[in-house]
Amino acid sequence: MATIITDECINCGVCEPECPNGAITEGEDFYEIAPDLCTECVGFHGEEACQEVCPVDCCIPDEDNRETEEDLLEKAKKIHPDDSFPSLDELTNETSLFRNPDRKNANL
Ligand code: SF4
Ligand code: SF4
Repeated sequence: MATIITDECINCGVCEPECPNGAITEGEDFYEIAPDLCTECVGFHGEEACQEVCPVDCCIPDEDNRETEEDLLEKAKKIHPDDSFPSLDELTNETSLFRNPDRKNANL
């Protein structure tokens, strides 16, 4: 499930440099996330880095684009072929939002 930015975005740009995958760009009306590059921060952070810094909490899960933790980890490996990642079993609440009940979007 990639993350999407809603039309509540105020175009502050704070999220863009926080994405470990370079998935966020300034769109025509609002900032946008490329779904092929969004791993929901799996492999890097225990929650969506964009949502963590967003002042209006408009980076939310895209219910129409669901992906498993395994798929997202594999996507991260493909985006960063020269980096090493934990195995699926080694992911923790600090490297996967699937294991972090305290993240901002936990109730969405
Ligand atoms: S959830 Fe993570 S990987 Fe996806 S756009 Fe936000 S910062 Fe980037
Ligand atoms: S941090 Fe939030 S409000 Fe700012 S550009 Fe990103 S999505 Fe938009």
